[in-house]
Amino acid sequence: MPIPLLDLVAQYENIRDELLPSVHRVMQNANFILGEEVDCFEDKFAAFCGTDHCVGVSSGTEALHLALRVLDIGPGDEVITAANTFAATAFAISYTGASTVFVDVNEDDYNINVDLIEKAVTSRTKAIIPVHLYGQPAGMIAIRRIAERHGLKIVEDASQAHGALVGKQPVGSLGDIGCFSFYPGKNLGAYGDGGAIVTNQPKLADKIRLLRNYGQPTKNVFTTLGYNARLDTLQAAILLVKLNHLEYWTQRRRDIADRYRELLSDRFVNLPLENAHTRHVYHLFVIQHEHRDELLEYLREREIFCGIHYPTPLSEAALFKTARTVPEGVPVSSRITRRILSLPMYPELSDEQIRTVAEAVNAFDIASVLT
Ligand SMILES: *Cc1c(COP(=O)(O)O)cnc(C)c1O
Repeated sequence: MPIPLLDLVAQYENIRDELLPSVHRVMQNANFILGEEVDCFEDKFAAFCGTDHCVGVSSGTEALHLALRVLDIGPGDEVITAANTFAATAFAISYTGASTVFVDVNEDDYNINVDLIEKAVTSRTKAIIPVHLYGQPAGMIAIRRIAERHGLKIVEDASQAHGALVGKQPVGSLGDIGCFSFYPGKNLGAYGDGGAIVTNQPKLADKIRLLRNYGQPTKNVFTTLGYNARLDTLQAAILLVKLNHLEYWTQRRRDIADRYRELLSDRFVNLPLENAHTRHVYHLFVIQHEHRDELLEYLREREIFCGIHYPTPLSEAALFKTARTVPEGVPVSSRITRRILSLPMYPELSDEQIRTVAEAVNAFDIASVLT
């Protein structure tokens, strides 16, 4: 049996009986845009994140975009983020007209290297977007100190880290605005696109609420150039059901990570580091291997499907060729993007599947020693 990187059908089978009545109710009420499920989900997700406000939006990308918009970031401004992240983080910055400054990441936990951030700050810097990559919180204590010292805003990209913690504090609640994606494959995923912002600042929440709905405080009154960027009622109904399972799923991801750690030989493989005092939620279980491409192919031949997140630093994309990098050329990101491999990781992965994956990785190492 093939082992996929992610299996959303297995998840659906487990929750179908709860999900279908909720979906049915939305269709029967026919209140598809900003229906009561959206309000209800926003309340529950704000509580989950430990924030006063949540605003559902159409995607994680749009969450980041609207967050930067309400912080008045625009042309001439600079925003600092990590060089190893998904393209949407920097796209959101570009949508506002601001420039992205890419900071290199740590070799061990893959998050932005906080010791380099101040070298990237200029008089034009307005904000930092830490990305909690693969489900592990970035160095928020240091980032908050730097932001305070230079008067910068913090927008967390928590798209991969629903439920991750720094101490007892959930990610998303650690800066000015937290942004989440509910893309189907995320730890909390809709059956289509979706996203949310969370914040403790009521004015920011109100402005985002306005911007996501055409800048329309009451019907046919348009006070600002807004967007069509709402979370669908149908997706909110699905997310409400799934949110009840998220803690169990997260625990299962963490157990799978423990099991991989026990089984994988660390002679050839760099296992993911878990920082002290933080809770990693393992959106992805990423290892490093010197012969990554050969290992990927070896596993594929055995029907074990892995991923690469991401194959090149974002700063190397043609769109960002002129962007500033700190240090120049982001050497750590360049090196690790050639070594990283994401193993199958989802809560429904069975113990037997975990063993099959680990044994195959170990067997590749033994085979490569013998030849
Ligand atoms: C998924 C993701 C996004 C974008 O979210 P969408 O909902 O797909 O728009 C942004 N940043 C990171 C780090 C992501 O993983």
